[in-house]
Amino acid sequence: MVEFEFWWLLVIPFFFGLGWFAARIDIRQIISENTDFPVAYFKGLHYLTTNQYKKATEAFSDAVKINNNSIELHFALGNLLRRTGQIDRAINLHNEILESRELTENQQDSVKAELAQDYFKAGLYDRSEELLLNLKKGKYYQYSLGTLLQIYERQRDWSKAISTALELEKSSGISFRKNISHFNCEIATEHLLNNNFVEAKDALENALNEHKNCVRANILLGDIADNQGNFEDAITFWKKIEYQKPEYLGLVSSKILNTYHRQNKINDGLSIISRYFDIYKLKTLLNVFYETVIQNEGAVEAEKIARNELIQRPSLAALERLFQAKAMRNSNELENIELIQQTLKNAIGNRKFYICNECGFKARQFHWQCPACNSWETLPSEPTDIILDE
Ligand SMILES: [Zn+2]
Repeated sequence: MVEFEFWWLLVIPFFFGLGWFAARIDIRQIISENTDFPVAYFKGLHYLTTNQYKKATEAFSDAVKINNNSIELHFALGNLLRRTGQIDRAINLHNEILESRELTENQQDSVKAELAQDYFKAGLYDRSEELLLNLKKGKYYQYSLGTLLQIYERQRDWSKAISTALELEKSSGISFRKNISHFNCEIATEHLLNNNFVEAKDALENALNEHKNCVRANILLGDIADNQGNFEDAITFWKKIEYQKPEYLGLVSSKILNTYHRQNKINDGLSIISRYFDIYKLKTLLNVFYETVIQNEGAVEAEKIARNELIQRPSLAALERLFQAKAMRNSNELENIELIQQTLKNAIGNRKFYICNECGFKARQFHWQCPACNSWETLPSEPTDIILDE
């Protein structure tokens, strides 16, 4: 066991003290050097440090009226307005600066960058895009590309998103492979809606070329093959996921079983899913396996699975399944067993959520892109059981 080093506890108050001291010095210095700063400015600072953003905004508005020359003050105010959701006021402020002042080229670019962010936040993507395309140089190159990428994603303009991500990857050195593969999958999905299977397959092959671990592309390629009656091909695509990211196998387990079922080869399907479960222990695999066994092989076999799971990984869900299987095969005390099972089921409730690793958003369904923060593949492949505080 690693021993905790207690002297660290002393470091924290020391840095606290240091921060407090530094803050005092700073403010005193500002006061002595800039006697022309209005009182409202310091009021604004005070509100900022106490997280009262609305009041800070008003104080800075007053400060700007008194000290109209300071461009930095205008920037601070603009930023605050945007942060507090007063986007129309931020837009007016930034436009006013652009129109009514003599600005250096650098300053103009800074204001335009702020304005582009205002328009983006307001959902006025065309205006934001226009500004960003002009800013795509020098200091604002990566900033512009990054915001443009977000705009094209929101507009679902996937080909522009791909070219922007490629440019951004080149200039920043950060990989956008995963994003680009999803953009190709989105293109494929749109083709699928119009039954353009050839174009959809092309897009999915692009996705795999851009990112060989693109699970989503193999799922969709399997769906297309399945839809066209090529069952063996479909299963081959879905099985590839084991060698890409096996944690996503839960997403194809029902598909695999259904396809085997339609060929009257359910046992082949069950042995694949049971092997996956033995190795990867994913709850989704167990659920699908259990449901299929109870439908196809009956309650006796299902009960064995539930009991085995209960012994190895005790959980209310496994207990509920055990009673479900028991209720199906036992006519003695049937009413009691059903009562126990229903009570367990109600107690467990539906508390399965996919929680975004990036922003913490709780989704009922799996999504490739987080509905809240728009990040790709940040929802886990398996849901988590959580109890909500209500
Ligand atoms: Zn998120």
